[in-house]
Amino acid sequence: MSSRHKEFIRVKRGNKKLVLQVSKIEWMGPHEAMSKWVTAKTLDSFIELSDLDREIKQLLLDPKYFGFCSQCKNYCVNGTMHSKTHCHSCAERYLGVVH
Ligand SMILES: [Zn+2]
Repeated sequence: MSSRHKEFIRVKRGNKKLVLQVSKIEWMGPHEAMSKWVTAKTLDSFIELSDLDREIKQLLLDPKYFGFCSQCKNYCVNGTMHSKTHCHSCAERYLGVVH
């Protein structure tokens, strides 16, 4: 898991459970974003590390939470995607879009 994903996905250890949370970006205005953590999945705390990795990968592939930027090849949390193929920063850099 790259450090980039860690900004958007966190694992919280609860009572006998692991809670997978995803950061959700909400735009209050054109330049005012607010992120909050939403629970995507609750897992058994005895889950193997490899299974946890798989769960996280599945989250990244879930269009409900993430988009994939074909320019910088990064998974970007929804709300930071300009379109289905470009994240905000790539849209600014390569498409000349001003946010
Ligand atoms: Zn990008």
